Amino acid sequence: MSADIRTTLGLRPVINVSGTMTSLGASIVVPEAIAAMTAILPHFVEINALQRQASAVIARMTGGEAGFITASCSAGVSLAVAGTITGPDLLAIERLPETNTEKNEVLLQMGHVVSYGAPVDQAIRIAGGKVVMIGQATSTHRYHMENAITERTAAAVYVVSHHVVDYGLLNLKEFVEIAHARGVPVIVDAASEYDLKIFLAQGADIALYSGHKFLGGPTSGIVAGRKDLVRNAFLQNMGIGRGMKVGKESIYGAMAALEAWETRDHAGIRAREAGALALWKEALDGRPGVIALIEPDPTDNPLDRMRVIIDPQEAHITAWDLAAALRSGDQPIIVRDHEVEHRYFYLDPCNLHPGQEHIVATRLAEELDKARASNAMIATPIEDLSRHRFDGMLRWPD
Ligand SMILES: *Cc1c(COP(=O)(O)O)cnc(C)c1O
Repeated sequence: MSADIRTTLGLRPVINVSGTMTSLGASIVVPEAIAAMTAILPHFVEINALQRQASAVIARMTGGEAGFITASCSAGVSLAVAGTITGPDLLAIERLPETNTEKNEVLLQMGHVVSYGAPVDQAIRIAGGKVVMIGQATSTHRYHMENAITERTAAAVYVVSHHVVDYGLLNLKEFVEIAHARGVPVIVDAASEYDLKIFLAQGADIALYSGHKFLGGPTSGIVAGRKDLVRNAFLQNMGIGRGMKVGKESIYGAMAALEAWETRDHAGIRAREAGALALWKEALDGRPGVIALIEPDPTDNPLDRMRVIIDPQEAHITAWDLAAALRSGDQPIIVRDHEVEHRYFYLDPCNLHPGQEHIVATRLAEELDKARASNAMIATPIEDLSRHRFDGMLRWPD
């Protein structure tokens, strides 16, 4: 094996057990996508003709009428929303984010207002959309949505994610039923969802996916759905979409990743992930103050993760200090720590290279042994995490 490119670049050789994170380079790109990108890069192509080919692949894979590739799923939200506001009006497309129509309101359940690294409502606002939040954080009722729809409503956006509130809200079928009763198109942000068909099948007009998450494609977004709405979103490439453009390599790379998804050995991957989880469970079970639970994905993707719950009194270390210790080694291990204030983090096996699961098991054991052997408890105040969260970013590039 050739030297790790990261060493050459002076980067730390990160092991990713956090899932698919933009901040870590998203996912392991599948060989089919790499080969496709390499093959097309030296050539000139007619980009819109290539996007037409992508449309056919997306239509076949999603059950939608048409589709195209853009820069990211977040770009897809902006372009799809923009299309519902401008229609095919080329002058209106150039004017965005200024609109000369009142019909620019976009409904969003309050429990869906999440950040995936940037706020989802901002992706709507940069497209000229005026976000109308419906319901409260943990409740949306039919009457909230029914009363929010007026002649100014351009679209309704529905977010599928482990980040959203997972109870008390309208499910997609109801959301679609209420929107369609008044002629309002529904756009689903399904960035991380493995099921490429279900949201359109449930009546969504547009479904959006990330190309660089589960699909293992290049950094890209996939827009799929009703032909007129997809076309109106595509036309935004002459407007706000310019700054979200993809080149030939991303279009062809995403097409290849989509086709590879069809033939991927899903059962084999699942078995390998189960093997990693079993190994970690064996490494953690019976340790004082440590509980290791294997849990299914909260949005029903065919994926299990391990929840590692740490009692600092017994383990002599907090969950967040353990996460920091794993992150600071020569081979940094990045765990999934969104909920660490609840004294647990997750280990996600979906982005491991073969063999790395053993390094993770060894490092967990080392750090837990070390903490247990010391008399002092390693317990940084949790407030320090939020106080210093953006220190590095605000100092960048130093
Ligand atoms: C990751 C994610 C996004 C952003 O996807 P990109 O393709 O990286 O822009 C948007 N929405 C949800 C729900 C996500 O999980």
